[in-house]
Amino acid sequence: MKKHNFSAGPCVLPQEVILKSAEAIQDFNGSGLSLIEISHRSKDFVAVMDKAQALALELLGLENKGYKALFLQGGASLQFLMTAYNLLEKKAGYLNTGTWSDKAIKEAKLFGEVLEVGSSKSEGYNHIPKMYGVPNDLDYLHLTSNNTIYGTQIKNFPKVNVPLVCDMSSDIFSRQLDFSKFDLIYAGAQKNMGPAGTTLVVVKESVLGKVSRKIPSMLNYQVHISKESMFNTPAVFPVYVSMLTLEWLKNLGGIEAIEEINNKKAQLLYSEIDLNPLFKGYSVKEDRSTMNATFNLTDDKLQATFDAMWKEAGINGLSGHRSVGGYRASMYNALTLESVGVLVDIMSELERKA
Ligand SMILES: *Cc1c(COP(=O)(O)O)cnc(C)c1O
Repeated sequence: MKKHNFSAGPCVLPQEVILKSAEAIQDFNGSGLSLIEISHRSKDFVAVMDKAQALALELLGLENKGYKALFLQGGASLQFLMTAYNLLEKKAGYLNTGTWSDKAIKEAKLFGEVLEVGSSKSEGYNHIPKMYGVPNDLDYLHLTSNNTIYGTQIKNFPKVNVPLVCDMSSDIFSRQLDFSKFDLIYAGAQKNMGPAGTTLVVVKESVLGKVSRKIPSMLNYQVHISKESMFNTPAVFPVYVSMLTLEWLKNLGGIEAIEEINNKKAQLLYSEIDLNPLFKGYSVKEDRSTMNATFNLTDDKLQATFDAMWKEAGINGLSGHRSVGGYRASMYNALTLESVGVLVDIMSELERKA
């Protein structure tokens, strides 16, 4: 039986995408060859790469606006380094909203001065700092739109006069935003798009080429742009699956349609967390993430009972991140409202039993 997969990442993917991917592994486009044994320069795969890039830009509303979409390797973690390598000349600003921002800051410090414009570290990253200044002399400001581990999400992005760089690993394609406000967006595929192994980078070409340091080819966005994500062998399978997921999303009605479903899922779960006296949310209400809901039991003695109940109901991946504890329900695009309903039913059943 297919489980209700609340895993934080790698995460649930649409079932039709899983089936089509399995088919392509056996016989890609009726070619008599597997997707993973053909040349990445073959006509059929080049078409996959082109389509994946085009769909990413189309869904984000960034076609013909000077942006390029790249499918790179090394995960979002390599982007912590690459963004600074390519954009940081003197000083960059970082909003520290969680472990991932913290790691991005650590890498950026290898290349220049880092100004932490705000931080919620001392409060266990349970909220997004709001009142912070952004000096005009920064090379860029780096934000993390959704904090996967703590379950917080930036709802209002600051208006700034410097380039905006954003790690959108765990909420890209989940809600409507004016994506043209951002100069560089990156996202590891495995949270909302595909399997681990590729990272989407959407970059405005005009912000590149401004730092004075020499950049190694593999770390240079301009090199990857000039080779259309084929400077070296791309992650063929993850790119293909990502393309299928983006196609699925487009057929569903795009980000506008999925946002409505995501909001319904989040409302259903958060209202149970708030109304059920056995549970309490981790992050402050106004910053709650629609993708990752973090919560705790009010009475730890119920843990064994609750854990047995959700496992019995076919729920997977509900344990909180090791640094936070408690529970985390990740409700990425492909998780259905029905799956959230199953979880909410278990939570109210626990209340009846206790
Ligand atoms: C998971 C995650 C990362 C790390 O991604 P990798 O692809 O494993 O390097 C970075 N940022 C955010 C917001 C994440 O959720």
